[in-house]
Amino acid sequence: MSGIDDSGNEWEISGTTRVVGLIGYPATYSLSPAIHNAAYRAMGIDARYVVFPVQGDAVREAVAAIRALNLVGVSVTVPHKSAVVEYVDELTSAASRLSSVNWISNNDGTLVGDSTDGEGFLRALAQMHGVDVTGRHVAVLGAGGAARAIVGACVDAGCGQVTVMNRTQSAAIRLAELSPVIRVGSAPDVVSADVVVNATSVGMDGALVDEMPIDPSLLQPSQVVMDLVYSPNKTRLYTAARARGCEVSNGLGMLVHQAAAQIERWTGKPAPIDTMMRVVAPRVDDTDASEAT
Ligand code: NAP
Repeated sequence: MSGIDDSGNEWEISGTTRVVGLIGYPATYSLSPAIHNAAYRAMGIDARYVVFPVQGDAVREAVAAIRALNLVGVSVTVPHKSAVVEYVDELTSAASRLSSVNWISNNDGTLVGDSTDGEGFLRALAQMHGVDVTGRHVAVLGAGGAARAIVGACVDAGCGQVTVMNRTQSAAIRLAELSPVIRVGSAPDVVSADVVVNATSVGMDGALVDEMPIDPSLLQPSQVVMDLVYSPNKTRLYTAARARGCEVSNGLGMLVHQAAAQIERWTGKPAPIDTMMRVVAPRVDDTDASEAT
């Protein structure tokens, strides 16, 4: 495709180069441009992915601009995932159920809001840990936007049991209303889970970096632990779970796979996961359990 020479070393912008955006705020430190652009390049797609830092009062205009500027679409991140719901023309069933959008497709002027976070989680779990959640017990710490996406995807994928634990019990109870497979639990329920997911903000850089969302002595060596936090790459939970003998990964796998799902929605072709994972590889901490303190 135009814009790329035979050796793949040039990647020029021309009059036909398409634009994909990310709207969020501040969003300027996002890894998504590197992940998406590496994929487009590997796929020979003449497009660029750029960040549009959009403040809250400009969200409506930003969504309208997708159509006006004939963008391919935009990813949507914090804090606009819920706000954009009312400005798109249609919602997919996943986005409608979650009232959250992380991808808006411009389908010939019709803006369709979608959510690929849940799919990204399931794909990351399968690719990085060889785990299919069908019939399994998944324990989810948290009941915010990411937790809702994960829980919904687990239910759709035929999870045997999903246990939700959250600081604010009422949010967990609301989440459990999605399906009878979901129950509200407490910390000791983690012991019987096959997969434990930290979908809280606990462990993120900043005020919560030294916190842990669960007592790690509850974790079992047979469990897969996925911490959706990826900044820092290795949270205290990540380190402690490794030390307990669990298989552990951070949120970079999900970040890559939710982007892959967006690219596949647009192109209809498989996204180059290996290329995309290589972009984040320097940040995927592979520290041995023996090094964990
Ligand atoms: P959110 O909607 O704001 O939800 C935050 C969740 O964290 C809530 O369950 C909240 O509990 C809990 N929480 C916050 N502070 C806490 C504390 N001090 N102690 C215990 N629980 C606390 O945020 P989100 O969008 O779901 O994101 C949650 C995490 O997932 C973030 O770390 C985010 O970076 C990560 N994430 C990763 C990806 C990825 O691709 N890897 C994608 C999306 C999100 P309450 O209900 O009690 O407030």
